[in-house]
Amino acid sequence: MNQQTIDLRSDTVTVPDDAMRRVMASAEVGDDVYNEDPTVNRLQAFTAELTGHERALFFPSGTQSNLAAMMSHCARGEEYIVGMNAHTYKDEAGGAAVLGSIQPQPIEFESDRTLCLEKVRSHIKDDDVHHAPTRLFALENTCGGRSLPMEYLRDASAFASEKGLSFHLDGARLFNAVVAESVSAKDITGLFDSVSICLSKGLGAPIGSMLAGSKEFIHKAHRWRKMVGGGMRQVGPLAAAGLYALEHNVDRISDDHERAHRLACALLDVEGIAVNDDCAHTNMVFISCTDNKALISHCADHGLKIGGDIRLVTHKDISDADIDRAVEIIAAFFD
Ligand SMILES: *Cc1c(COP(=O)(O)O)cnc(C)c1O
Repeated sequence: MNQQTIDLRSDTVTVPDDAMRRVMASAEVGDDVYNEDPTVNRLQAFTAELTGHERALFFPSGTQSNLAAMMSHCARGEEYIVGMNAHTYKDEAGGAAVLGSIQPQPIEFESDRTLCLEKVRSHIKDDDVHHAPTRLFALENTCGGRSLPMEYLRDASAFASEKGLSFHLDGARLFNAVVAESVSAKDITGLFDSVSICLSKGLGAPIGSMLAGSKEFIHKAHRWRKMVGGGMRQVGPLAAAGLYALEHNVDRISDDHERAHRLACALLDVEGIAVNDDCAHTNMVFISCTDNKALISHCADHGLKIGGDIRLVTHKDISDADIDRAVEIIAAFFD
């Protein structure tokens, strides 16, 4: 029996399907450094409209999009407040600090992955020569597989305005949050000054992220993008994949959430496994057992790849049958 490997490490592993490849192959192109790629321009206009912001800009990665956002909000020697395990603090190689000379003020997450606004308040630096002035408050949604409650987002937005802080969303998985909360993208993105969205996660495009914000903000971000080497030329085919993803792959995210839910429920019945929160909030299931390493290598030996932390992520290229087989493979480890 030679079955294909099931890859649950991340939703970044999806490959473009035939329909996406067709729009890529036929995309109109031009030199985007001259703002002359019509497909990139369409993607940017579409994203601005979708998020309710004035402008949007196409980036090769979410790391670069977040970096340009942080550098546009904060000057050298200023500070951003961020979650302790947030991607913009922990998983972007320290870019804001190294390239932007922006100081992070990390804060521990609450168990629901929100940042307690009282704690945030207590870390805002006042106007004192000892301090790096706090300019930016950054959230992530979804965060660790959880969508942040809408009420919290509204409170955090009001709090940021009251404190005069810019408010940025790392919305790498914005549409997982949109689907989980049954809201529109605008309902979330409208609460922030800027938002970064990955096209290459659950949306299934091969590459790309979008940054949205005001005209003035995107103008600044555009210069930072150029400086860090993100000026791109005839990238219409990549933008076409992104447009296709935004137009066709948002509604299907609910299938990923259902499959993650089914996976979590099935694993709850496997003796020896602990499932975080006893459930999946969006498209991620976090599990653990007494020997995580051995479980991961057992899975790899049986054609199932799972994330090191141990994370199982559902996505476009995972079927119901894949979920059944994943459960069988994992359960066999405990037999
Ligand atoms: C994937 C991801 C990013 C961006 O990552 P790239 O690989 O640089 O596109 C940013 N934030 C979060 C939360 C992510 O999961």
